[in-house]
Amino acid sequence: MAKDYYDILGVGKDASKKEVKKAYKNLAKKYHPDLNKEPGAAEKFKEINEAASVLADDKKRAKYDQFGSAESSFSPGFDFNKFDFSDFGFNRFDFGSIFDDLFGGGFSFGGSRRQRRGSDLMLKTEITLKEAATGVKKEVELPRMETCPDCSGSGAYSQSDIKTCDNCKGRGMASVTRRTPFGVISTTTACRKCNGQGKTIERVCEKCGGKGKIKKTVTLKVDIPAGIENNSSLRLQGEGQAGDRGAQAGNLYVVVKIKPHKVFERVGDDLYIEVPISFTQTVFGAKITVPTIDGEAELKIPKKTQTDTVFRMKGKGIPNLRGRGRGNQLVKVVVQTPKKLNKKQKELLKEFAKESGEDATPNKSFFEKLKDAF
Ligand SMILES: [Zn+2]
Ligand SMILES: [Zn+2]
Repeated sequence: MAKDYYDILGVGKDASKKEVKKAYKNLAKKYHPDLNKEPGAAEKFKEINEAASVLADDKKRAKYDQFGSAESSFSPGFDFNKFDFSDFGFNRFDFGSIFDDLFGGGFSFGGSRRQRRGSDLMLKTEITLKEAATGVKKEVELPRMETCPDCSGSGAYSQSDIKTCDNCKGRGMASVTRRTPFGVISTTTACRKCNGQGKTIERVCEKCGGKGKIKKTVTLKVDIPAGIENNSSLRLQGEGQAGDRGAQAGNLYVVVKIKPHKVFERVGDDLYIEVPISFTQTVFGAKITVPTIDGEAELKIPKKTQTDTVFRMKGKGIPNLRGRGRGNQLVKVVVQTPKKLNKKQKELLKEFAKESGEDATPNKSFFEKLKDAF
């Protein structure tokens, strides 16, 4: 079926290139199958790309305008390989997966004349809270495509195996002439023989089979700074997939997850902890040992401290990522009721209760006592 590309993008016949790009960008975002799970979104997305690739290309658009939406002039001449999405402000990271899905992985952004930058990669790594406090160099394993070392990415066995394509004479484009009811129509498409590259390879590199890239798992050391927050992502420039034929490699994004800690809870740069203390320690005051992220530290409990009192240990929190000092550690002391008492201890406590004017008889609840009070 013939398609109206202007309709698809929702622009007028006199829309400028800028307007076309803008319309494409909005629609592509709306129907990107990663974002839009509705049935038919992928189909629609493909249609939008098809329309934009024609209307954003002066030559293709002129031809399209001339022949209307007549199928014969365009299909199957439509060629994604000549369409550079980077002009639209997107990169491979945004659309890589879906394009691979739709076009079977053979899809190339840059076309033949422009070298395509490698796609970005993302991986997750997990660190402890202690590592987040001190900073850590974390080793990560990353499978990625690297430029083939044997052919330096050319895909050829040797330099002399790279020949100018005899079909397109190196232009990367070929004209197909067809007879149609409109007359003889000549359509320019990417050369099928060289896939728009303008070059053919006589004998391919043995290591990469002509792809110019090889799959390799590398170990990288990621420098995770002290004070990093959970789910932050670090960008490692040029550590993504190799680009095409010497083009810039993509970036690697490392998402850092911080494992929950057994005793510390982190809020911003502060650390929270609950520490048990005894009744007598709260009465007489004490110096207690509390864990901190740097190891043990002493905390002075003043006399007559109530349960659930929070003490602040200044500068014992997490270092600030932007170098603004360190957070604090907040210690909540919780008075523990002794579980095991010997006879003498019990006697002493009863005596203490009596001295305090309390009724130490067990099993008498607060409410019963309350009743007695009236
Ligand atoms: Zn190679
Ligand atoms: Zn060719």
